[in-house]
Amino acid sequence: MEALLQSIEKKVRPLIGQGNVADYIPALAEVDPNQFGIAIYSNDGTLYQAGQADTEFSIQSISKVFSLTLAIKHYGESMWQRVGREPSGNPFNSLVQLEYEAGVPRNPFINAGALVVSDMNQSRFASPHYAMREFIRRLADNPHIQSDKVVSDSEYEFRARNASMAYLMKAFGNFDNDVEDVLHSYFDNCAVRMNCIDLAKAFSFLANKGFSQHSNEQILSPRETTQINGLLATSGLYDEAGNFAYRVGLPGKSGVGGGIIAIVPNQFSVCVWSPELNKSGNSLAGMAALEALSESIGWSVFG
Ligand code: GLN
Repeated sequence: MEALLQSIEKKVRPLIGQGNVADYIPALAEVDPNQFGIAIYSNDGTLYQAGQADTEFSIQSISKVFSLTLAIKHYGESMWQRVGREPSGNPFNSLVQLEYEAGVPRNPFINAGALVVSDMNQSRFASPHYAMREFIRRLADNPHIQSDKVVSDSEYEFRARNASMAYLMKAFGNFDNDVEDVLHSYFDNCAVRMNCIDLAKAFSFLANKGFSQHSNEQILSPRETTQINGLLATSGLYDEAGNFAYRVGLPGKSGVGGGIIAIVPNQFSVCVWSPELNKSGNSLAGMAALEALSESIGWSVFG
């Protein structure tokens, strides 16, 4: 497996230079684009890696999967009254559908949906970001995971767009807590720094019927696990979810830090990272690496 990962790294590295690193906040615009890492964690506990698999990066929207998991654990089915389960077909930070759909976001993986999920977690925990950070540390078996204050402060400074979505949802009655408090928790979660190994380990429960070997806990039921994987397959890559299904064929979630996680149900959890993004905000080399890997091993769930 590691020889395959190294050959894929060699194949996709030349793509670096054809995309752009996220530049909506200065703290992310400064990231060195010339980086690539990949890690795969198997259900039997084997870790495979290549490139800069132990270099930390900003997990950004990948955090939306952790927040959703925490919310489902508490609210169960009732949470779907406040957020939908349909692909949006629009960019991750779009507001257009909110007005037509009475402040109910299309799915939990676009910003509007993740803000509602963060609002639910805000109602439940006294310190929502600390609850989330403890949860992530347990899942990744790494007590050193932290949020980057420079990134979260910068997100807050440039919050206008996320704040508009949250206030619009509040106007529709789909937001319970103080918007600014929820924005702080949401940005602290996005600014968590992890490496590919941490993320492959942390998401292994989604490949393992909801059971985490690292925390030795049943995180979600097997049914809830298939449901989250279904949502990741249909909405995990924003307006490129269809293209990801076509090219890779796995449940996945991307973030504008350049990370993508993918789940091979009942077998592996994968994390790939390279900071340059395509125009949908997904890692350019990361997508290509997952496509090559999925094709060589025959991983597509649609096979
Ligand atoms: N922090 C980013 C935002 O809210 C997360 C977006 C992303 O990774 N797609 O805009």
